[in-house]
Amino acid sequence: MREHHLPGGRELLLYGRVLHDEPPGETLPEEPPGVAPHLRWHPLQREWVAYSGSRQGRTFLPQAAACPLCPAREGKPGEIPFSSFEIAVFENRFPAFAASSVAPLLPGIETAPASGRCEVIVFSDDHVGGLGSFSLDRLALLIEVWGARISVLGEKFPYVLPFENRGEEIGVTLHHPHGQVYAFPFLPARAARAAEAQMEAPVISRLIDGIDPTLLLDDEAEALALVPPFATYPYETWIVPRRRVPGPQSLQPSEIEAMARLLRRSVRRLDLLFEKPMPYILIVQTAPRGFENSFHMTIEIRPFLRDRDKLKYLAGVEQGSGVFLVDVPPELAAERLRAVGGL
Ligand SMILES: [Zn+2]
Repeated sequence: MREHHLPGGRELLLYGRVLHDEPPGETLPEEPPGVAPHLRWHPLQREWVAYSGSRQGRTFLPQAAACPLCPAREGKPGEIPFSSFEIAVFENRFPAFAASSVAPLLPGIETAPASGRCEVIVFSDDHVGGLGSFSLDRLALLIEVWGARISVLGEKFPYVLPFENRGEEIGVTLHHPHGQVYAFPFLPARAARAAEAQMEAPVISRLIDGIDPTLLLDDEAEALALVPPFATYPYETWIVPRRRVPGPQSLQPSEIEAMARLLRRSVRRLDLLFEKPMPYILIVQTAPRGFENSFHMTIEIRPFLRDRDKLKYLAGVEQGSGVFLVDVPPELAAERLRAVGGL
């Protein structure tokens, strides 16, 4: 891993199989800081809400020639001032959480500093492609990078969440294949519930051991791809290592290879399902601090198309009650996904 500092002090880390020693080129200029991020307590939901004024200034769907995640060239500076790289990680220019955060004093409401960290992971120096088309070695490297970031950030922060948003339909502002890592200054309520459930009982191991074969998509010695019987999104797909590990940082090389194979197949399957790129949110669920001995990691893909031209929206019932309505039962979703050919 090569460590580089961008103007303004933001960290840029280059991960790869080959040594990266190219001298840096031009970098995008820093922008003046916007409203400092901070947290406000929601007294009814009993959870923090994060506010970040600077996020409105984000780059929005630039033309490929102006993509800030493509390698920098003469006369075209980018976030990554090198002509090539494998996987690049840098501190987000528009963070929702930042070390510099301070809590504002506001009447009648509890506030706190949003002193976490937000990183961007650029999966490739190629503007096109994605998790369904990368080489298996690149996907294995990505799983290793997730693990490396969780190890480093987990030392300082109670909860680390790697994720990928894909598709304009769900608000992606840059097409270049990339994901993000949020290191939270607190443990979010939802993550706490999942971790506590696993501390009380080995929920994921039981799920794997007792899985109805009709929900299985891929069945390998070291990992599985499946539709969970309690899926909240149509065609939701999970990739799960058989062995209980708290996160990708604890996977063995052969387990990483298995996860990479299943990750690629799962994304391809979703892309082929309606013969168009599936908009999705991919979440790497890993152990919050203190739950490392009971948590079983999963990679969860939540697709946003319930039919070829029908988006899944979180509407009145979901927003109002938190209860998900799903119109494709998991058994039927798995049957349709298994029927997809041409992987
Ligand atoms: Zn690009």
